[in-house]
Amino acid sequence: MDYICLDLEWNQAAYKIDEEDEIPFEIIEIGAVKLNEKMQVVGEFQRLIRPQVYPFLLRRTKEITGWTDRDLDEKGIYFEDACEEFLNWCGKNYIFCIWGSSDLTQLERNMSYFDMKIPWKYPLKYLDVQKLYALQEHEGKARHALEYVIEKYDIPTDLKFHHAFDDAKYTGMVLQRINLKEYGSYFSIDYYRVPKNRFEEKIFNFDTYSKYVSRAFPLKEELMENKRLREMACMICQKNLKKTVGWFSDGGRVYLALGECREHGLMRGKIRVKATEDHSGFFGVRTIKACTEEEKEQILLKKDNLTKKRRERRRKGGKKGDGEN
Ligand SMILES: [Zn+2]
Repeated sequence: MDYICLDLEWNQAAYKIDEEDEIPFEIIEIGAVKLNEKMQVVGEFQRLIRPQVYPFLLRRTKEITGWTDRDLDEKGIYFEDACEEFLNWCGKNYIFCIWGSSDLTQLERNMSYFDMKIPWKYPLKYLDVQKLYALQEHEGKARHALEYVIEKYDIPTDLKFHHAFDDAKYTGMVLQRINLKEYGSYFSIDYYRVPKNRFEEKIFNFDTYSKYVSRAFPLKEELMENKRLREMACMICQKNLKKTVGWFSDGGRVYLALGECREHGLMRGKIRVKATEDHSGFFGVRTIKACTEEEKEQILLKKDNLTKKRRERRRKGGKKGDGEN
């Protein structure tokens, strides 16, 4: 299997009113390098793209990427052609490696805007190299800019940053320094498409947590009532957990719960509510992972504080029903 480090640059409308909903970001450069299983660079790909939706580069885009309107006019080709060449170049057996989480979504969005067939089946798994770096160096907790990591690894910075092709090369160089035996199994899932039905819904098991992605529902309430999303199974033995604290909202788009496996101890559940790409509905991403007594206390405290706040708000509002729920 090959590793395809991909990076994109894009442009957008100068004014919100000129923005096309289906393509808020128009891709102007595709850059990629291909690494084989031995982590050797075996191919390079770069195309500049002549814009069709937003014909002029924003000043900010020019500043960041260094490209000019003339560059794209003279050297650019149409997105459909560039993308087709790119897909052919990718080959058959590969996994995308991306710095961060947005490039594949933008690629698919551009493809569907230009009526191209998206060749990847659900789920589209990829390696988020920024996340793998965080796992390897910071226990997964931080996210750093590519420039920072390049410096940390003493990689010579003779290439530019924010050129898709150069960023793809840098991403490849970081990937070469990641212990893939240890961290290569921590793939990410692109959420441009979500499961169409319950049969596409899957639980993904990682060493330290499990992840479940639900299909989309028109309303948030409907989503949160869904039994499968609310289920809590042990991330190790898959047996149902004994729920000790039921799902509660943290006030925003995150829900938390606590459960216990007789054999494997305390686990924390977290549901992130996300809007689908076309804003037609909501889906949930649920993770379950082992938790310590301390983390349990923090969650309980959070719940307490939220209950108190809600009660206060109700009192101030002068409404009846204090103590309900
Ligand atoms: Zn268990």
